[in-house]
Parts: sequence; structure tokens; C-alpha cells
Amino acid sequence: MPVQSHAATSQIKIILDGQELNLPNEVEVVNARNNIMIPIRVVAENLKFNVNWDQKTQNINIQQGSKAIALTVGKQEATVGNSSVSLNMAPQIIKNTVVVPIRFVSEGMGLKVDWNNKEKIVTLASTTSPPSSPANGSQNDSITNLVHEINYLNNQLVVSLDREVTPVITTLKNPDRIVVDFPSTNFGNMSQPVPVESMGKLDTGYIPNLTEVRYSLFKNDPAQVRIVIELNNVSSVNYNQQYDAGKFILDLKMVNDPTPATPIGGSSKKIVVIDPGHGGSDPGTTSITNRYEKQFNLALALKVQAILLQEPEIEVVMTRETDVYPTRPERVKLANDLNADVFVSIHGNSVSSAPQVTGTETFYYQRANSKELANIVHKHLVKAMGLKDRGVKNGSLEVIRETTMPAVLLEVGFLSNKSDEEAMMSESVQTKAAQAIVDGIKEYLKL
Ligand code: ZN
Repeated sequence: MPVQSHAATSQIKIILDGQELNLPNEVEVVNARNNIMIPIRVVAENLKFNVNWDQKTQNINIQQGSKAIALTVGKQEATVGNSSVSLNMAPQIIKNTVVVPIRFVSEGMGLKVDWNNKEKIVTLASTTSPPSSPANGSQNDSITNLVHEINYLNNQLVVSLDREVTPVITTLKNPDRIVVDFPSTNFGNMSQPVPVESMGKLDTGYIPNLTEVRYSLFKNDPAQVRIVIELNNVSSVNYNQQYDAGKFILDLKMVNDPTPATPIGGSSKKIVVIDPGHGGSDPGTTSITNRYEKQFNLALALKVQAILLQEPEIEVVMTRETDVYPTRPERVKLANDLNADVFVSIHGNSVSSAPQVTGTETFYYQRANSKELANIVHKHLVKAMGLKDRGVKNGSLEVIRETTMPAVLLEVGFLSNKSDEEAMMSESVQTKAAQAIVDGIKEYLKL
């Protein structure tokens, strides 16, 4: 469903003011006909511009100081300040990530941009002022501080350092996260694996308000260590920082999102909402043999329903049982009003430009319980489908983002791929897949 890419990803380097940006592992820079597209996350985290993404209107606003640009997904028209300009390449959503053209964004924000097509290097330079070092003036750039250990316990990030460093701390939204940058700092004799090219991840175990803590060498020369604390179900966060006996301590105080109340007098049955994607006026994608995604979604979902109806401890509720189109907010409201225990949305994937792309992928949005559900259902579904395992992914999709219970969106296979489609349209494979989805739901609910 959400993949509509006509682009290739390749090894592209981005150099900002002489320093190569160490992009997080999972971030892909896209080269679409030599228009380099970067995820808006990179614009916010790496280029440090303020980014506001409105899912509903598909508008992207990027701001810094007095400079502001506005773009819309799928539109080649954008505005810089008050004037309208046209783009070579419209912003797109690729693999659930909003990507924007780096040249337009950078130039709009006053950077000078060069593109070396042969070496695939984007060079960005601040034209007005020299690069601002994140170090505040008191610190000497020639001294490299060393990190020896990073821990996260009891809502505290504890970083052992060989001397006192004041980090630059930024809070970012969507997903909620706190970025802690240690200037002039490298990894020392670490008691945990040192990430070379990628991000390391702390083994924190399950912590209710935390998705993960990752760390990386963000820049090389001068070195800069970055730690990102990604939060979960938090409506606001405050922090205090201190340096004490070789340890930098960031103490977080989180205010939780309100947890939904348990229904009064409700049955003890678990409520499972099954959501066959699209329907009615919205056909979803069209398969390689010209069949509609909405039909596949419904056929599989009805098989899941039939099996769940046999489960004495489960009450199954469908967002649709026929070829009709409930809006996405209606689907979300249904599940939220029921205070459902599990929400499973069923879809078929597509990349019309790349019919060789195959496989099963499962999306969750941020919440740790959704991720757990995604991992379990995905494991069963991949086995049943026998297609390539494309993994479990964090994606900002409305029905899994706006629902309040553990929620997943299954992209069962690619309707744009001949053999995926053949399997997906097969009654016997659908029956196996339906059983796998039910097995996953039951395993998650410990039934
Ligand atoms: Zn879909």
C-alpha cells in the first residue's frame, strides 16, 4: 500500500561544512533521477532545522530563524517565504518515510549545495556564518573527551566520561525523542560495543516509556558522540542534568499519555479488531493482474474472522465485512471506543515500478506493546506466506498511530509481484495466513 517509489537508494554521502554526516543505519537517502531525497528526520536531526509534518494535510513546514519553506507530498509546487517556486521532484512517501529534495530544502534554508554525481556526494555549506560548533565557547575543540560507558536506568541516562562535558540537548517530536550531543567527544575504552559506522543500541530491556536508547559517533572531526533517547506514549518530558564524579546524568521526568480505562461491566473476552484495508470507493493498489487490493484484504480478513469466531476467549469485531469504505478515523474510533485489546489492519503492498520486489512486512507505530505484537504476528505470518522476510518496521500510519491499543498493519505480500500475488490470491495460502495471524494474536494475548 504505502510504497510508491520510482527511486533507487545508493551510497550517498552528505557533507555539511566539511564534516560527513553519520546518518542512522535505517535512514535511506534516495537518488531519484539525480534528485537527492532525504527523510525529514535527517532534516530535523542532522541539519537541525525545525520540521513540522502534518499527516492529514501532507504538508511539510521547515523553519529556522526567519527562513521558512513549505512543501506538500506529491506536489511540485512549494513556497519559500512568500513566493511560490516549482520543484524538480515533489516530496514523496517512501517506505512510510517522508522524503524531501535536499537541494531545495538546503538552498531554501540558506545553505550552498553542490552535487558530485560521479562520487555521489552532496556538499552543504553555510554561506552566512562559519559552522557553529555545538561546543559552547568555553570548551577547547582540540581536546577530545572520551565516553567509557552509557547506561539507562530508572529514567536516568548515565554517561561515564573522562572529564566534564556539557552536551547540547534537543527534544524532537514524532517520534518523541531527546537527542544528547557531546561535543569534542569520542568513544573511549567502552564497556559495551562501540558503533563504528552505525548506531549502537543499549540493551535496556522493557521500560514502559522508552522505545530505545541508541548511540553513535555522529561526526568524526571534531568527534561528536550522539545519544538518542526515543520515548513512547509520553505526553511531555522534563529533564535535569548534572555532572558528578565522572558521570553525566540526565534525569528524565515523563508525563504519560492517559491510559484508557477498562470497560465497566464488559465481558472478560479479549476484543480483537480486524481491519481489512481500503474498500468501496477506495480500491487500494491494483495487482499485476489488475485485481484490487481491497478484495484481497477483505478475503483474508474474513478468514481471520471465521477462525477467531471459534475462539471462546476472543470477541472479534470487523471494521468492514463487505465492499464498503469506512474512513480511517472511523476505523480508529471504532477500535478506541471498544477499548479493544488488539488491532490488526490487513493490506497488500505494491511497487509498480519494481515488480521484482517481494516479501512480507509488518508495521507498528512506536508503542512497545505494538512492537511486541508486530514481532509475534510477523513471525507467524512470514512462516505461513513463505515469502521474503522484510522485517518489522516502525511506520507512522494513521490506523496504527491513532489507535490506543497494541496495533499492527500487515503488508502480507506485494500485489505488484507475480508470484507474491499468485500466493496472496490463493485460497489455501489465505487460509494458512489467516491461521498464522490468529496464532500470532493468541500468542500475544497469552491465550
Ligand atoms: Zn493498502
